[in-house]
Amino acid sequence: MQFNVLTLFPEMFMSLQESIIGKATEKGIIDINLINIRDFSKNKHKKVDDTPYGGGAGMVMMPDVVYDAYNSIIAKSKCNEKIRTIYMSPQGKKLDQKKVEDLAKQNHLIILCGHYEGIDQRVLDKIVDEEVSIGDYVLTGGEIPAMVLIDSVSRYVEGVLNKESIKEESFSNGLLEYPQYTRPEVFEGKKVPDILLSGNHQNIDKWRKQKSLEITKSKRPDLLLK
Ligand code: SAM
Repeated sequence: MQFNVLTLFPEMFMSLQESIIGKATEKGIIDINLINIRDFSKNKHKKVDDTPYGGGAGMVMMPDVVYDAYNSIIAKSKCNEKIRTIYMSPQGKKLDQKKVEDLAKQNHLIILCGHYEGIDQRVLDKIVDEEVSIGDYVLTGGEIPAMVLIDSVSRYVEGVLNKESIKEESFSNGLLEYPQYTRPEVFEGKKVPDILLSGNHQNIDKWRKQKSLEITKSKRPDLLLK
């Protein structure tokens, strides 16, 4: 799967070279194509933002620079269909498991990261298919939200994780996951539940389902209502 990211701060994405996403990139399962919007500025000082019409605080990213950066992806793309373009925005629909799994079905995505006060509305109207938020709070830029989206979506791309680990996870079946334990068998006087050492997989499955329900009821009762 290819993520094309339009950003003013491509270096921020270096952390995605680590761990599972890093390995998926090395194997070629995931391709993170970073496009620096600043490279498309025609200004000799590489200016990409200006003051807002109508006054007010902060700076707004200019439409032409963003549009040229976007068109550079389209010009090089070998994809026949229109590539879904997502603007990371606090005004968007909140990212959840359903949206993550839906986006993982795409082969290509364009992710637009705003900064400062945001981006001129006219270019958003022209290129954006949907706005996605990572929560009801405002961050300084769309880069961290874009990384959240890339990480969560990549986990559902075939070959990135083994299928079993995704199947039993929190939210995958509408519940939170049961508690997990590993060695040592006794830690600070606390023993691993006997059932997990019993080797009886039917009983273990039953216990896990029960714990999953209890945890969901106590931590996220709203999920049970759904
Ligand atoms: N002035 C905008 C508003 O009030 O809606 C906020 C701009 S914010 C400071 C700058 C950029 O950060 C946005 O253009 C967006 O790309 C990104 N951003 C901030 N909070 C976000 C969130 N909760 N989810 C996704 N993106 C966010």
